[in-house]
Amino acid sequence: MMMNGDDTGLDEALNSDISRLAQSRNDLEEEVTWLPFDEVPKHTQIVQRLLAGTDRMPAHKESGSKNDELVKELQNLMTLPGNDICADCPTTNPDWASVNLGIFICMKCSGIHRNLGTHISKVRSVEMDRWNDVQVERIKDIGNARSNQFWEQNVPLEWEKSSIQVNFKSSTASDRRRDFIIQKYHDRAFMSVHDDPDL
Ligand SMILES: [Zn+2]
Repeated sequence: MMMNGDDTGLDEALNSDISRLAQSRNDLEEEVTWLPFDEVPKHTQIVQRLLAGTDRMPAHKESGSKNDELVKELQNLMTLPGNDICADCPTTNPDWASVNLGIFICMKCSGIHRNLGTHISKVRSVEMDRWNDVQVERIKDIGNARSNQFWEQNVPLEWEKSSIQVNFKSSTASDRRRDFIIQKYHDRAFMSVHDDPDL
């Protein structure tokens, strides 16, 4: 079931891929039985590598006008729907990023991402750090909306954005934010394993 065509087809294919990924995430040695790798969409391949711990990205940093171009490209990406809100909380106009996850995040969430370790999230400031092509390409390929289709596929009511928003304003906000991000990317707790339409 590959996806040419409209967004509905894309979403269905994506969701099905996510289910398959989620089902096998605890047993990555298991024989891979889903789509041949070269038929899997690029963003799904990326997440597949992230889950398997096999994702590798070049770390070199451009300078001068080349870096200026990349930052400008990032600033354009930041304005796209989804990217204009932190991938992990309701903060608007986030100007930090996780380069391997391919998302924009706010400064507060970036501190928590940093603590997850670089094997999970590699944090950069859009404007204060220097970038390379592959990192910008990654954010283009993923972005906040698509990323959350993977990582927030099955978020329990207590963690839904509306309640997170309330929680993030409370006195325990920093604990809630940290717990949410750890569950989301470290524990992978919100990736559904019950979404296979064949079940
Ligand atoms: Zn945030």
